[in-house]
Amino acid sequence: MIMIIIIDKREKEEIMARYSRQREAIRKQVSGRKDHPTAETLYAELKKDFPELSLATVYRNLGQLAEWGEVVKIDSYGAARFDWVVEPHSHFFCRECGCVVDMPEADDRMPRDIAEHFDGVIESSASNFFGLCKECKEKLDRESRN
Ligand SMILES: [Zn+2]
Ligand SMILES: [Zn+2]
Repeated sequence: MIMIIIIDKREKEEIMARYSRQREAIRKQVSGRKDHPTAETLYAELKKDFPELSLATVYRNLGQLAEWGEVVKIDSYGAARFDWVVEPHSHFFCRECGCVVDMPEADDRMPRDIAEHFDGVIESSASNFFGLCKECKEKLDRESRN
């Protein structure tokens, strides 16, 4: 069976406009924040203003924005998180709650040492730090006291 779906030009333009409006809203929602949100977090926040929005759309648009270099996708213990700061920078990953925190600029002596033992050209570097965030550390300290 052949199914022909006819969408007139105006209808198609409306769909395209809605897609870019949603993508723009997603981009804005990621911008300026420090919590490196997941797609689920953004979806829950945007759902109020865009009732027709689906989680799949949020994922697709975030993938598109990452491809264009407008956001960076980072992996935190298996969950994809998104960062609007696209310049390389260091992150701390909490193994308990999975939060991702920006780290202050690390000492740049280490990359230079590494560069001496590397035949190519290193243009930037960022380090990953792993452990427990302040909240999780305090929570575990409280629990171990009880
Ligand atoms: Zn934590
Ligand atoms: Zn970051």
